[in-house]
Amino acid sequence: MSIEVNNITKLYGTQKALNNVSFNINAGEIVGFLGPNGAGKSTMMKIITCYIPPTSGSAKVCGFDIHEQSMEVRKQIGYLPEHNPLYLDMYVKEFLEFVGGIHKLPNIKSRVAEMIELTGLQVEQKKKIGALSKGYRQRVGLAQAIIHDPKVLIMDEPTTGLDPNQLEEIRGLIKTLGKEKTVMLSTHIMQEVEAICDRVIIINKGEIVADDTTETLQKNTSKQIITVEFDKAVSKNSLKTINGVKEVNQLEGNAWQLISEGDNDIRKEVFDYAVQNKLSVLTLNKEEQKLEDVFKKLTK
Ligand code: ADP
Ligand code: MG
Repeated sequence: MSIEVNNITKLYGTQKALNNVSFNINAGEIVGFLGPNGAGKSTMMKIITCYIPPTSGSAKVCGFDIHEQSMEVRKQIGYLPEHNPLYLDMYVKEFLEFVGGIHKLPNIKSRVAEMIELTGLQVEQKKKIGALSKGYRQRVGLAQAIIHDPKVLIMDEPTTGLDPNQLEEIRGLIKTLGKEKTVMLSTHIMQEVEAICDRVIIINKGEIVADDTTETLQKNTSKQIITVEFDKAVSKNSLKTINGVKEVNQLEGNAWQLISEGDNDIRKEVFDYAVQNKLSVLTLNKEEQKLEDVFKKLTK
């Protein structure tokens, strides 16, 4: 197990930021820690990375305890904090060499060159960090997080504030890094999880409200909502006999809402039903409920 979190509670004064949170992350997983602003994501990450202690509860990273072995825990982790704090007056190379020095790495120069190549910083490597675009600063943040080759990579909202091109590039980079490491990233954007993560832990108001593979969550929660209007009246019970229909709601007049679970398209069945019952279909419209809607529902 890469990360084990057991019954963590965190109070800031009287405010509860985390309430008895537990979860595990296996080696090699890319897990999205998803929740709206103020849910407790950054607090959880700061506790796992030993920046702040929990009020109660415990956590282990690669078997090392955050209370008893915090130096070991830090060695296992690469951390990209929220807002990516960097020294803007330092040059890219200078900064990465400085970070390499903190980690007491041997062969700092060659390791920095490797990081620059891996994160695609070659063209900007001679610049001051302050002169870089947000996307390139994020690459510097990632380079500093992995320079000591940690097993676990923890990133707090790594793509916030990036433009669509930068977003694509940084997501690609995170995926590449995720092949070798355990990754936990926080985000308040559902699509981010769909694009990058194998698994999602949804947190709201300091509590876990869902924890599943992205695929399962998508499958179990996806719904097709068909709106259909016929030229004549039909009964609710006869609509319920249409194959795949799980729920029927009457709208105005001869318009109905038919709901099916999963991702099977029941429009053909609806047409066949109309033909068999000598009805004309005046309108037919299909909507899908996506993971996005589930997130909204769980965190409202
Ligand atoms: P997220 O990262 O999900 O947006 P945070 O972990 O930053 O959430 O915050 C969780 C809750 O704890 C919020 O209500 C926030 O206002 C509060 N909080 C965070 N840091 C502090 C702090 N240093 N002092 C007091 N309250 C804090
Ligand atoms: Mg945060």
